[in-house]
Amino acid sequence: MESLRWLIPLLAVVAIFVGGIRALLSLRRSEESLICTTCGAETDMPQSTARGSFAIEVVLWLALIIPGLLYSLWRQSTRRKVCPACGSATLILADTPDGRKRAEQLPKGKS
Ligand SMILES: [Zn+2]
Repeated sequence: MESLRWLIPLLAVVAIFVGGIRALLSLRRSEESLICTTCGAETDMPQSTARGSFAIEVVLWLALIIPGLLYSLWRQSTRRKVCPACGSATLILADTPDGRKRAEQLPKGKS
């Protein structure tokens, strides 16, 4: 498996790169309370999902480094906060007039 020898350091670089960007973005994570306008759940720990596909990311990295790099950057920079209860990307700040209005209107999503 001579041809696979370069693959290990490459995958290590990809893992470090993606992990690094993820860590940087999570440092910027807001501590504010958020409310989901779909189900009414309140959270200060929204989940985040990246757009695109991890499989495409790996293929691009393996095929050509630069597109893989760009694709990784695009995916990590377009991560969206989603509701941990229902998965909707409709979280708004709870500590706003609109957020408080939503909290009163919607049933409490405690579960
Ligand atoms: Zn929700």
